[in-house]
Amino acid sequence: MTTRRSFIQIIPLTGALLLASRSVLAAAPSVDEKDPQAAALGYVADATKADKTKFPKYAAGQVCGGCQLYQGKATDPAGPCALFAGKQVSSKGWCSAYVKKA
Ligand code: SF4
Repeated sequence: MTTRRSFIQIIPLTGALLLASRSVLAAAPSVDEKDPQAAALGYVADATKADKTKFPKYAAGQVCGGCQLYQGKATDPAGPCALFAGKQVSSKGWCSAYVKKA
């Protein structure tokens, strides 16, 4: 049975757990450009540094923040990408799997 006192004790614990889970999400590592998958896709944290010779489909203005696979907010500096589970890509980054957000 939950007494009023035990309920009151649970609230701060729940808040602490929520804060801890948020900081774990915020601490997701960034994708390393040298990671084999990232390198194969031509991922760069700065889209203007995309290898235009190797990836001629790159066009100025294409960035992760405007990509269909980007799962962060366009205003976030970085966010998750469907291709890189558990990691974050720069919202100003780019890779050859770029698909313009509808
Ligand atoms: Fe960025 Fe889109 Fe490539 Fe993911 S798929 S790294 S969001 S350009």
